[in-house]
Amino acid sequence: TMNYRHVYHAGNFADVLKHAALAHIIAYLKRKPQPFRVIDTHAGTGVYDLGSAEAQKTGEWRDGIGRILADTPPGDVAEILAPYLDVVRNENENAESGDEALMRYPGSPLLARRLLRPGDKLVVNEAHPEDGVRLRTLFNKDRAVKVLTLDGWMALKSLLPPPERRGVVLIDPPFEEAGEFHRLVQALTEAHRRFATGTVVVWYPIKDPRRVRAFHRDVAALSIPKLLLAELCVRAPLSEGALAGTGLLILNPPFTLEATLKTLLPYLVRTLGQARDAESRLEWLTGERMTAR
Ligand code: SAM
Repeated sequence: TMNYRHVYHAGNFADVLKHAALAHIIAYLKRKPQPFRVIDTHAGTGVYDLGSAEAQKTGEWRDGIGRILADTPPGDVAEILAPYLDVVRNENENAESGDEALMRYPGSPLLARRLLRPGDKLVVNEAHPEDGVRLRTLFNKDRAVKVLTLDGWMALKSLLPPPERRGVVLIDPPFEEAGEFHRLVQALTEAHRRFATGTVVVWYPIKDPRRVRAFHRDVAALSIPKLLLAELCVRAPLSEGALAGTGLLILNPPFTLEATLKTLLPYLVRTLGQARDAESRLEWLTGERMTAR
């Protein structure tokens, strides 16, 4: 049942929010000299050729990173996006200017790798056999990176806590099977139990708002302190159909993240919105400023 391939979706609006947030979190970790570790349980292939037949078929990146790079964001937003966009631009530095210049899009593994300092570590895990081979090839002989090809839900347990006791975990499943919302709830429980001080980012799709609300309720019931919720809907969700929005739950976000997303999300609504009812949401699911739900 492993049909999902991220190449069809690489650089879409969901990737933009996810990767911008991840880059911000890594940049924050670099404020202190102690080494840290990035763990990516559902890593994909690490980098995507946007000129490939698969990426061209959906063209999702055109309404994601394509729109961002074609825009000139205001200064505060440009500053927020810089750690992310610098990596994207560097991967494409030989390309010509213009829309088609963007050909190589870094997934979370390559993005994280480019942001590491000497001494920091990256662990990437991918269960799809072909994608796992690509990931291994990308990081061949790179001693800062450990590539695993296990079940991500199992790998999570054995990888926590990281020896550095500092870092960020990204849990970015494909949501092609029923029960993945439930697995995210379990994964958050595990991650918090094993690495209570770590930052954990989980991704979820917004298609059916009722399903999402039930997920929020289940997560809030775990009484894990400090969970920030960020959502971007490029159009109002219908109860079934295409991806209308993207969500992130961030356990133990760096204290700068809330203000950062408060500036970034309205910009993403304006720039990536596909309908007049595009909107965003930012609130504490638990902790900090408790929001009644
Ligand atoms: N994190 C990547 C990024 O931001 O560039 C994208 C990951 S993509 C949304 C999800 C990936 O999870 C796919 O590459 C898929 O093959 C992989 N996958 C599916 N089931 C998995 C499992 N049980 N364990 C680990 N990886 C899995």
